[in-house]
Amino acid sequence: MTLFERNAIYYAAMELVHKYVTRNPFVICTNLGIHVYERNDFEKIKGMYSVGNRRRNIFVNGNMLEEEKWMSCGHELGHDSYPRHRKLARKCPMKDTSFFIRNTTEYEANLFASHILLDEDTILTHAAEGLELDQMAAIMNVYRELLLIKLEDMNQRGYPVRAAYIPETNFWKRA
Ligand SMILES: [Zn+2]
Repeated sequence: MTLFERNAIYYAAMELVHKYVTRNPFVICTNLGIHVYERNDFEKIKGMYSVGNRRRNIFVNGNMLEEEKWMSCGHELGHDSYPRHRKLARKCPMKDTSFFIRNTTEYEANLFASHILLDEDTILTHAAEGLELDQMAAIMNVYRELLLIKLEDMNQRGYPVRAAYIPETNFWKRA
């Protein structure tokens, strides 16, 4: 992924956050006209994105923790934001049983979700405070994998934040 593409993804997500003055992906989806449903009958599926009959739908597993629902909704919103993903979803609903699968499509959805959910100033503050990766993830209510994706991206865009966290983890890499 080029720096140009990274920046474009970042600004697209930030535009939504600023326009709707929220990082709540459910609120953003509603504003975008995406139909969001919580499904209590989902077991392995954490989230799903489908497109059909001019409707864009997101289904979130209703049995998860609140912060997991936000991550799930953010991830599916990520799929919605890439034209290529929408095209894929038109052919077949995208079902996510695990978000951290190593392929470009899933990486892109996570990257977008990380921008929606995670504030960079807060990350920089926590990094300056010397917080461990897991502490930071816990405070920010996300899985460490999502935080690592965000940190790696910030690093690529010129914030030297990821380096401090590399030794602790086998960080997730995109394919
Ligand atoms: Zn996905």
